[in-house]
Amino acid sequence: MESSRPLGFDLVDGLAAYAKLALPLLSQAVMEGRLKQFVVEASVPTISYPNYATIISGLDPKDHELIDNDHRRRLTSDHFFKRLHRDGMTSAVVGFHWWEDLLGGDLPPSKLYEGEDTPDHWVFEQAEVIATGLHPDFLLVHPMGVDWAGHVYGGQSSEYLAAATRIDREIHDFWKWWQLRMKGLLVIGADHGMGPGHHHDVNSLREQQVLYFVDSDGHPNVDLRRQSQVQNLLSMLMGEGV
Ligand SMILES: [Zn+2]
Repeated sequence: MESSRPLGFDLVDGLAAYAKLALPLLSQAVMEGRLKQFVVEASVPTISYPNYATIISGLDPKDHELIDNDHRRRLTSDHFFKRLHRDGMTSAVVGFHWWEDLLGGDLPPSKLYEGEDTPDHWVFEQAEVIATGLHPDFLLVHPMGVDWAGHVYGGQSSEYLAAATRIDREIHDFWKWWQLRMKGLLVIGADHGMGPGHHHDVNSLREQQVLYFVDSDGHPNVDLRRQSQVQNLLSMLMGEGV
């Protein structure tokens, strides 16, 4: 099966729903009807590795059994990348190196980075390089700059909100490029939010509530309230049904 339009998924690490006030361009796109916004509750624990696993498998941590960031075992259940591969669709990943731990041999062509302070701008540049070279049906773009600012300065800091505003601009620029050059659809989301301190492992609403923004051209008429439903949304936008 071939999807008519490629799908990009900007997974912004650590972007809490309350940071929406620092996202002027995405907020404007919602007001103008170009993006549809969803408030999504991340699975518990609200930490990256289990949340990545839930996003791509549709399973809660009690079922995929990946519950911390330290023992980064491979995801053994069925997941979105496997499904695309089975259906003859191509993927690519630009993201943090933990994707290799999570996906193992199922990792598609990728550009991974190690430093959590890797500039988001570099991540989006690599996304354009890999998209131009491979024309994947699905492209995951995973910047860490917002999460890093939250850990260093705290979730209520001006630095955290400034990082959110920077990613707002990066995503908006990437979206324009992705539409123009790849004729692609875009989904924007996050793995977890950020607490008022320097962590996101307390499972409060600040950590659990994240936003998803979906390109209105994709007609995202789906129920999207929980992180385990994200892969249904991605499948629907890839033309695979849910
Ligand atoms: Zn994270």
